Amino acid sequence: MAVISLTSIQPAAAAQPPTTSAAASRGSLLPFYNCRRNLYFTFSPPHDRRHRRRLRIHAIDAAQPYDYEAFLVSRFNQSSKLKIAIVGFGNFGQFLAKAFVRQGHTVYAHSRSNYVSIAQSIGVAFFSDLHDLCEHHPDVIVMCTSIISTESVLRSLPLQRLRRNTLFVDVLSVKEFPKNIFLQNLPSHFDILCTHPMFGPESGKHSWQNLPFVFDKVRIGNEESRLVRVDNFLDIFKKEGCEMVEMTCAEHDRYAAGSQFITHTMGRILEKLQLESTPINTKGYETLLNLVENTGSDSFDLYYGLFMYNENAMEELERLDLAFEALKKELFGHLHEVLRKQLFGKAEEGGFRRPKLAKLPKNGTPLLPSQAEAYNTQNNN
Ligand code: NAP
Repeated sequence: MAVISLTSIQPAAAAQPPTTSAAASRGSLLPFYNCRRNLYFTFSPPHDRRHRRRLRIHAIDAAQPYDYEAFLVSRFNQSSKLKIAIVGFGNFGQFLAKAFVRQGHTVYAHSRSNYVSIAQSIGVAFFSDLHDLCEHHPDVIVMCTSIISTESVLRSLPLQRLRRNTLFVDVLSVKEFPKNIFLQNLPSHFDILCTHPMFGPESGKHSWQNLPFVFDKVRIGNEESRLVRVDNFLDIFKKEGCEMVEMTCAEHDRYAAGSQFITHTMGRILEKLQLESTPINTKGYETLLNLVENTGSDSFDLYYGLFMYNENAMEELERLDLAFEALKKELFGHLHEVLRKQLFGKAEEGGFRRPKLAKLPKNGTPLLPSQAEAYNTQNNN
């Protein structure tokens, strides 16, 4: 029930009430705001205009906002808050959830394993059943499952329980693959944003400042609310200081095979060597030890996904192999020279001439020895 309390107050010099001749003749309550946006009413009795009494309303049901600007700011903040569901609440899912919660978003989670107590400690509502989670109508679903399990998990989502325009986001370390499975499996009324935070719980444990965040707005509806929702989601990473990089999924995969996949591969090769810290570590060696630590803390599923689901990875692996072989040849070639000098140095100084290697013609056809002699004479002169 509305409670209105009225008190007589002295006329406020700062805020004079409006007067109209009609109000003056009837006697009435006239509303007005003072400079602090407090609502006042003046009571103007019909006959005795010299003894006007000013009445102030103290309360109407609930308290009026004390500071109108703060009220507007808080309304705006509320409108930019999202309900985010993380599907796949492992290592990386939990890492992201902490930032989402810290920024005031409502976070739900689902995973194959039971993470109820971890979720509680972070401030996340955990749902073992995907149906229960979807019935909470999250604004955004973030797929944070291993690359290799993502398609089957996506297919198991009860899409019919979601709001029709839910935004689907993935954070997989490869990009063409989730883009394609989203496009194949999600009805056209769902929005799609493919992203890759180029950092993890190790490399981003202190801050996300200046760390790259790659995104591709694959399919976003034209409505204002959808555009704003995507921006609100991206803002989470912007606010943490990430370097926002918009590029296509295909571009991402090309760059990532040559950088991220090579990094993980080198880390895993070095891990197999079981490197140990020494009392005389150089800076370079420390970097290698850090690389082993960084890449070794990621699951093998993740590494395997980088290989299996990025079509450029195989080529990079072959290039790595060739580069290693070439380097070994260079080393052994030098060693061979030294040994030759030790073995034949004197003889060579004394007039022995090593036969010149035959140059190959441009088309690479092998030459018979007699042809080679003629070819060399022709081309060396
Ligand atoms: P991950 O080994 O790639 O993925 C683990 C997650 O996948 C867990 O939530 C796990 O669920 C779930 N999962 C695995 N197999 C499953 C299956 N058969 N069915 C259902 N769920 C399954 O490790 P991660 O580091 O947490 O990475 C998660 C995603 O984030 C990956 O796509 C990865 O590429 C991406 N990412 C990771 C990093 C990073 O630094 N770690 C950085 C950027 C992006 P349970 O735990 O419940 O078993």
